[in-house]
Amino acid sequence: MLEMKHIKKSFDGFGVVEDISLTVEEGEVLAIIGPSGSGKSTLLRCATNLETPDAGEIHYEGEYGLVFQNFNLFPHFSVLKNITDAPIKVQKRNKDEVYKEARVLLEKMGLADKENAYPYQLSGGQQQRVSIARALAMNPKILFFDEPTSALDPELTGEILKVIKDLAAEHMTMVIVTHEMNFARNVADQIIFMDKGVIAEQGTPEEVFSSDNTRMREFLGKLS
Ligand code: ATP
Ligand code: MG
Repeated sequence: MLEMKHIKKSFDGFGVVEDISLTVEEGEVLAIIGPSGSGKSTLLRCATNLETPDAGEIHYEGEYGLVFQNFNLFPHFSVLKNITDAPIKVQKRNKDEVYKEARVLLEKMGLADKENAYPYQLSGGQQQRVSIARALAMNPKILFFDEPTSALDPELTGEILKVIKDLAAEHMTMVIVTHEMNFARNVADQIIFMDKGVIAEQGTPEEVFSSDNTRMREFLGKLS
């Protein structure tokens, strides 16, 4: 479903992503964890064409959807327009069909009554659910999340993690950068621990969380 081979990215001569290769199979959830500055967002930005890698190859099938930490909704668009704009303008899909699907997604996100609201009228959790609906409206084969809950308080964090868990139960293929270790442990099929631009540890949640890799233990120690 997604294959990244030997990805490298430097900024001002400093290697931020150094020769990273990974694969994500259809229906699989990959969680990427690691300290601040280890290159997680840069890797995700390379995967989603927001950044051009200096070297390496990226292959995936179909569309992808992207959910950011700070929601990145268009402030001057209503909820409905935020969700329908790209499918209509970029994917050139039939308007009526797109609106119909968008309303189904809003219903699913518990936001059926908010289609005419503007982002500033919504809570952070609601904005993030709109952002997830917007990503899903592209009919993606894979969803990428970059710390989708780190701007939210604990209650709203739980709400968003639940939405993502439900998507995992529906076998949506996902790559999730997160600092929520319990969530990663429960939802991910595969975890990558990044440190200083490389994959320092990789495996199932059981393998990674019981690893005796020093950096990994330090990282987990700091969190708890
Ligand atoms: P965090 O957990 O804090 O989000 P991260 O693992 O996502 O961290 P990145 O955002 O990928 O880390 O950043 C890795 C390094 O690359 C940092 O030192 C950052 O300053 C640098 N960097 C990222 N983007 C750019 C850019 N556009 N120009 C220059 N340096 C950058
Ligand atoms: Mg980041």
